[in-house]
Parts: sequence; structure tokens; C-alpha cells
Amino acid sequence: MISDHNLNKVKPSDVVLLGVPFDHNSSYQRGPASAPAFIRERFYSNSGNLCAENGTDLSLKKNWHDFGDLKSTDLKNSFKIIEKSVLQIIEKQGRILSLGGDHAITYPLIKAYSKTYSNLTILHFDAHPDLYDNLNGNPLSHASPFARIMEQGLVNKLIQVGVRTINPHQREQIEKFNVYTIEMKDFTSNINLNLTGPIYISFDMDALDPAFAPGVSHHEPGGFTTRQVLRIIQSIGVAENANAKIVGADIVELNPLNDINLITASASAKLLKEILSKMVT
Ligand code: MN
Ligand code: MN
Repeated sequence: MISDHNLNKVKPSDVVLLGVPFDHNSSYQRGPASAPAFIRERFYSNSGNLCAENGTDLSLKKNWHDFGDLKSTDLKNSFKIIEKSVLQIIEKQGRILSLGGDHAITYPLIKAYSKTYSNLTILHFDAHPDLYDNLNGNPLSHASPFARIMEQGLVNKLIQVGVRTINPHQREQIEKFNVYTIEMKDFTSNINLNLTGPIYISFDMDALDPAFAPGVSHHEPGGFTTRQVLRIIQSIGVAENANAKIVGADIVELNPLNDINLITASASAKLLKEILSKMVT
């Protein structure tokens, strides 16, 4: 939950950074629970600066706040804590940029968002569609958040990019839920995502090629370069998408245990800087 002291800092449309350090719904390896600390270390490090490529110097901006990490000693209640905390911020008309954690956290995040935003578009970067009805009997698995979101009609539109692991079950789910999935094999730099606002970005670090992001739990070669995803993010809200405003985002699935020389933590921090600068400018 968010303290009153912090909530009082939130003015309408301010952005709140929030660490969501939970990975107990990961199917294969744990690790992403420790990611927020690594992302912050790279984001605030003196090895770089807080200037984004659009010219925004985040160190001079007063309309974003870092509220640290959510805490839960009772993992069974973690989804409730995420949903309630996010609602507290949304009620102050704030926007949340959360640092996971595994991808399971996106379900309670969107549950909270759907209470205010009835026509949300999710732009989902991932090697995987994460549409399993359940994985190994767990309907809250990190491989299932978008099945829960879509079956409950929590968003208007789900657009997936970077996907390269579809099996027959997930192909059925894509059709059933009318998901706009642009498979990695079909991706071209001039593709038009037809984004309309409000937009929520859900960024799974394994969307990137393992060469650019080795610190993930599920290595899937043939993915995006860092520059390709930056171009997509930087194109939001320009030209034909002028009304596309980012109202929330998450960066998930960094697994520091698999990282090499902080390469993936640095890529996560770069994405954080570019997404945050778009949101606050
Ligand atoms: Mn995912
Ligand atoms: Mn993934």
C-alpha cells in the first residue's frame, strides 16, 4: 500500500515509479523479484545521465516520483496489494510505471486500470503471447495474464509485438480473444500499429533478442534489437497517432540471476528512461 505521505505528492497526470518485486508465479525460474533494485541502480547510476533521447532531462522534471517497492510478506495477497496500491494512485489521477517482477503482475495492474479506463489499448512487447488458460494448473501464471485480462474484457484492444513462440493452444486463444498479434517473423520497421489512446505499455524483457537482453528466464533467439523497440516507443503519439497518450506501463521479467555485466538491467533502465520521458513531457 502507498503511504499518505507519498500519495499527497501525486498531482493529476504525475507518473509514479513503483517496484513490484514478486515472482512466485514464474513457471521455470525465479529471479525477477530482485529486478527493481537492479533497474534503479542502472537508472540512477553516475555512469550515465537522466536525459532521454527526446531531449527531456528527467532530473529537472518535477512531475514524476519514485515510491520504491511494494512489500508483501504474504504472497497469497500480493495481487490484492498490487491492485489496491495502483488504485490509490489512479484515484489521485496519477499514472504508474511499474518495475516487475514477473509478467503475472500485469493482471492486477490492469484490473486496477480498468476501473478508470474503459477503452485501454495494451501494447505488449514479448517473445510469448502469455495467453495460456493456465500453465501447470496455475491460472495466475506469468504465462497467463493476458488470458485473464481478455476473458474479463478489461481492455478495448491488445496488440502484441515480438511474439515468436505460439503453440496451437495459444493460437486458439489469440483468435478467441481477437488479439492483434504481430509475430516477430512478420515484423517490419514500417508496420503501422494503429495505436489510439489511452495506451498501456507492457514490456517483457524477453521481447528483446537474448543477445541484447540475456538476463531473462526464457531465452528465445530471433527477437528485437534494443533500437527497434525504442523506435516503436518513440513513435507513439506522433503523426497519425497524435492522440495516443501513455497512461501506464510496466517493465517485467528482468532476471538479474541470468544477466551478464548488467546488460539487461541497463537495457531495462534505458527503456524506463525513454518511456518515462514520453509520459512526463
Ligand atoms: Mn511475458
Ligand atoms: Mn516472455
